[in-house]
This record gives sequence, C-alpha cells and structure tokens, in this order.
Amino acid sequence: MFSQFALHERLLKAVAELNFVEPTPVQAAAIPLALQGRDLRVTAQTGSGKTAAFVLPVLNRLVDLKQKRVEIRALILLPTRELAQQTLKEIERFAQFTFIKAGMITGGEDFKEQAAMLRKVPDILVGTPGRMLEQLNAGNLKLEHVQVVVLDEADRMLDMGFSEDVERLCNECPNREQTLLFSATTGGAGLREMIGKVLKTPEHLMLNNVSQLSEGTRQQIITADHNQHKEEIVQWLLANETYQKAIIFTNTRVMADRIYGHLVAKDFKAFVLHGDKDQKDRKLAIERLKQGGAKVLVATDVAARGLDVDGLDLVINFDMPRSGDEYVHRIGRTGRAGNEGLAISLICHGDWNLMSSIERYLKQSFERRVIKEVKGTYSGPKKVKASGKAVGVKKKKTDKKGDKKAVAKKKPANRQKASAPLVSQDGLAPLKRRKPAPAAE
Ligand code: AMP
Repeated sequence: MFSQFALHERLLKAVAELNFVEPTPVQAAAIPLALQGRDLRVTAQTGSGKTAAFVLPVLNRLVDLKQKRVEIRALILLPTRELAQQTLKEIERFAQFTFIKAGMITGGEDFKEQAAMLRKVPDILVGTPGRMLEQLNAGNLKLEHVQVVVLDEADRMLDMGFSEDVERLCNECPNREQTLLFSATTGGAGLREMIGKVLKTPEHLMLNNVSQLSEGTRQQIITADHNQHKEEIVQWLLANETYQKAIIFTNTRVMADRIYGHLVAKDFKAFVLHGDKDQKDRKLAIERLKQGGAKVLVATDVAARGLDVDGLDLVINFDMPRSGDEYVHRIGRTGRAGNEGLAISLICHGDWNLMSSIERYLKQSFERRVIKEVKGTYSGPKKVKASGKAVGVKKKKTDKKGDKKAVAKKKPANRQKASAPLVSQDGLAPLKRRKPAPAAE
C-alpha cells in the first residue's frame, strides 16, 4: 500500500485519486530510500512504474516549501521530448493537490516561449539536455538552488551522445543534495563513468530481471523471405490479429515511411513517428494514437522511446532491433502495468542470428508462429548450432573490386575469443556485442 510510505498527505491523496493501490516493485524499493535522501542508481525496465518512483520523492521534498517560488528546486533530465511530456503529465497528476509547479524544456519547441516560462520559475524543470544547455548558455536558466537531480533513462542519454551535456548540467547544480539515476539496462563503461562522476555512494537497486520482462507479453517470431514479404505479413496481422493498438518498429526512417505509405494506401488508420518529423507532427501522432483516431503507429526506436499509450497491445518488429537492450525497450511498450500484450518479430535469413542472440540474452525462446495465408519459403536455418545460430552462414570476403577472394584468416590480437559470450557488468546475463550506437532516428 502507498500509505506505508512516509509521503505527505496531499501526495497520498493524489495517489488514491489516480487509483494507484499497490506500489510496483521499483516503487517499493526506491521510494523509501529516496525519501531518506539517498543517492540511487536504479536499473528498471520501461513500464515498471519508475516515473512515480522518482516523482513522488521529489514532490515530497518540495511540498512543504514555504518560501515564495523564486528558484528551480528539482531538475529532471531525460532523452526525448515524448518522455519529457509524459513525465511532466505524471508530475502534474501527482502534484494536483499541492502548489508545486513544473515546466518543460525540450528541443523543437519555441525558444522564446521557453524563456518566458523560465522567467516564472517552475519548482521542477523537466527536459532534454541539449536545449536545457542552450537556455543556460543564453542566461535564461539558473540552477544553483537545485536540491535534487534525476537522470531518467540515463543509458539512453549516453547512447544519444548527451553525456557531456548531462555532466555539465549536474555541475551547474553545486548545491544538490540528492541525485537519482534510472536506466533500463546496466549499461557499459560510459554509464559507470557517469555514475562515478555524478552520484555519491549510491545504492544500486536492480529491478531489471530481463527474463521476467515479458510476463504479460507473448513473444513470437514469424519467418519471412524479404522485406516485401514482411510487409504482407504486417498487413495480414493488422487485419486479422485481435488488438486495440499496434506499433511497428523499423530500424530506419526510410523504412518507417515506406511501410506507413503502404498501410495508408490500404486504408489502415496509421501514423508514422521518427526523428525527421517535426514536433507538431510527433505530438499529433501520439495524440491520435492515444485518443484512438489511429490504431497503428510505425516508428523508429528513438522516436518511440518512453512512449506510454494505454491499450498498446501489439508490437511488431519489422526490423529486428540491433541489441538485446533495444528489444527490451521496444517490447516494454506493451504489457505495461500488468496488461497483456503480443510481440511479434519478423525474421528473414539475415535476421536469424541476431534474433537467436537476443533469445540467449533474455534466456527465453520465442514462440515460432506460421501463418498459412502468408507463408513464405524461408523457415529458419537448416542447421543450428548449440547457441541457436545458423551453421555455415559466414560471408565470403571480397576485395575492393568486389571479387570474391580467399582471405587468409588473421588471429585478432588482444581480443576476446569471438565465440566467448560477453557478460554484463553485473555478471547476470551474457550480452550481445554492441555495435556502435546508430545515429538518432
Ligand atoms: P512508467 O514505467 O513510469 O512509465 O509507468 C508505466 C505505467 O504504469 C504508467 O501508465 C503509470 O501511470 C502506471 N503505473 C505506475 N505505477 C503504478 C501503480 N502502482 N499502480 C497502477 N498503475 C501504475
């Protein structure tokens, strides 16, 4: 029960009003420690209720402030505009019986309007690091009275190249008493470095047991011959599957636009969301999906980060995500807060090994599904290794002219054996070798 937490009565009233009865595991673990003022590093998956886990302690710290509002007291940094909007809404819902005011600063919004908002000085400022720094550099933002800093989806902020901006902003808050860092994954060296720089003897709460990821979500794969065949499967699924709302993930903007165009041509009510879309279009796409005007969203990863839409119960991976962590984020869009969901990945010949390494990372085996109406010829590799990967799919090396060439095998110096699984920092699960983070889509 939320009443077990030492939260102010005005906050408990809001919690009750919002029908939050039982705290989620991340809330149960993080709220009491955060209320004590501890620095926390929390590894918790998306959809776990992590927003309330930091918003409530932040509000509790500010709720009794008697002074006239003249300074920003809390700073929440996160990677995307959509996540900022959702977090702001969550703050406003929990703060509805208090006098606490929050403001938002993200790229893609009017700079002068933001400066005007900052002149009114919100108690809590939420936003993305890039624009926040621009406002700071323009002299519109004063952070010296910030008491608490929250870094939400810190792993993602690093992936997006925000690490220096985040550090700079933290340094602009010299009087902060508490820092709370949330990430969906345990991250790598970059995250460790940031933790060392910005947190003081943090408690590490690990709520991210990836093998429990999909309790409410069935995970399936369907094999496909090529992209056009994948599109046929998508259209069949959208026409025949039972779902309220669906999201289709692609790895590139071009593919997102292409699928969207073909869906609209077939009279599906769809929207597309990716990094090339301006802020107005992105807002509209999310609103239409939330209100039910559109049932289908085609999106790239960056655009869909942090998206929390009620009734989103079907996720289709048109392209396989590039890492196990990205898969976790995508699938986290569905099966949220105990609801049921279905996640389907479309697997061509070239996707198989990536899919099987994600299965190993999650310690799960996806259900193989065949749809006879759109069945193709590819049904997985003829032979698989113990790892689940296909046998004998090594590409022949070519020289610069494109001619096939016998290339002498070189032993990589000082490298790990290619077959040795990488182990996560916490030694929990083998990790896929990550490719360099793709440019933000
Ligand atoms: P989050 O992981 O913070 O994005 O939360 C996912 C969804 O779960 C949001 O729609 C929250 O409003 C909802 N939620 C979070 N905590 C609870 C709770 N204790 N009871 C009911 N719903 C919750």
